[in-house]
Amino acid sequence: MKDHSKTKAQLELRLKELIERAEHVDEDLGQRGPRDWDDNALESEGDEVLDAVGLATVAEIKMIRDSLIAIDEGTYGVCTACGIAISAERLEALPEATQCRRCA
Ligand SMILES: [Zn+2]
Repeated sequence: MKDHSKTKAQLELRLKELIERAEHVDEDLGQRGPRDWDDNALESEGDEVLDAVGLATVAEIKMIRDSLIAIDEGTYGVCTACGIAISAERLEALPEATQCRRCA
């Protein structure tokens, strides 16, 4: 099995940054937690921008978590949609990619 320890460390660091960022967005939104973002997305224009940032962050956190699970399971670097190996260049540019360029 290929050693992904470097990628894993990189992803874990990125995950930590994103979680911190999500917490800051959360603070900016006052009492509302991440789970409320969907329901309140259309509340006001100012909040919409924050919600967009928040939702993108949440989506990236999910991708990174999926990649970390894939590393643990030994399926990292394989497209979850078609099962073909994801190109090294793509993983280099987007380490959290769980699908190949064609399926993403
Ligand atoms: Zn694919």
